[in-house]
Amino acid sequence: MPLSAFPRTPLAHLPTPIEPLPRLTAALGGPEIFVKRDDCTGLAFGGNKTRKLEFALGHALAQGADTVITAGGLQSNHCRQTAAACAKLGLACELVLNRAVPDREPAYEVSGNLLLDRLLGARLHLQPPGPFDREAGMAELAEKLKDEGRKPYVVPAGASYAMGALGFAACALEIQEQAADMGLAFDAVLHASGSGGTQAGLIAGMLLAEAETAVIGIDIDDDWDALHAKVSEVAADTLDMLGQEKAPLEAALDLRQGYGSPGYGLPNEAMVRAVTLLAREEGLLLDPVYTGKAMAGLIDLVEQGQFGRGQRVVFLHTGGAPGLFAYPSLFQKEMP
Ligand SMILES: *Cc1c(COP(=O)(O)O)cnc(C)c1O
Repeated sequence: MPLSAFPRTPLAHLPTPIEPLPRLTAALGGPEIFVKRDDCTGLAFGGNKTRKLEFALGHALAQGADTVITAGGLQSNHCRQTAAACAKLGLACELVLNRAVPDREPAYEVSGNLLLDRLLGARLHLQPPGPFDREAGMAELAEKLKDEGRKPYVVPAGASYAMGALGFAACALEIQEQAADMGLAFDAVLHASGSGGTQAGLIAGMLLAEAETAVIGIDIDDDWDALHAKVSEVAADTLDMLGQEKAPLEAALDLRQGYGSPGYGLPNEAMVRAVTLLAREEGLLLDPVYTGKAMAGLIDLVEQGQFGRGQRVVFLHTGGAPGLFAYPSLFQKEMP
């Protein structure tokens, strides 16, 4: 089936702009660096989940759902964008939130995305600290709501399933179209990879477009094996849905590790430096959980000489800046 055959509900401002980052490019002295502004997808402070939700909630509406259930950490950008999309579409939103990140400062429990979830009218199901099975938690809630006569639709965490990844297959095609309009070609698109759907969709879309552009995911957690397997699985499912060959998938799956430590949502120094550098050199706001670590990865790869001077790299800005307000103590240094 072609992409256009899947139900899709418009939520995002598309296409998002691609802009050069001349001051970053000069500071690093490597390839020409561009940014694709998926932080500007337009819905409640934007971010990458909005593209996925166009297809995920299109699917939910086609099934007659009146309620959407999804899950994430307390500062989940995905949950915030889902709450906003549900508000816009007149659907009830139930968020199952667990404490995936230990020992945070007080703002983490009240500000940032969590404040926005409440403002957007979502119903929150806050879990106590400790291990928690999100899939089981959502399934249990779905059963309870069905018993009450509701029609729930479960969006997996991060909307990282084939239906959500279609949004990033469409994004890959959008990037190729923009490159053609700009009269140039991009050698690579680099981005933060968390629950895997963004990377899976981009890989599927680039294969669909028979594009030469490499997709490079930066693991922002610290569990490469699990994420690699997830990207592979979701990309295969997505290619299946699109009726595409799966053979080239493994060769196209490039997931880099070494930038996510000490783990999901936990800061490291290279992230703080990258967030500060982009704010001060380009007026561009990254985030502490995803894009700051991905940018630290890009900076390191450039410093290692992994891209040539004549090459062009697009940094996909996947959003997340509301998360800055959940980590205020990290970013209070003034100019030296
Ligand atoms: C969710 C998220 C990502 C990662 O996308 P996945 O599809 O989960 O891999 C990257 N950046 C931000 C800001 C996010 O919220």
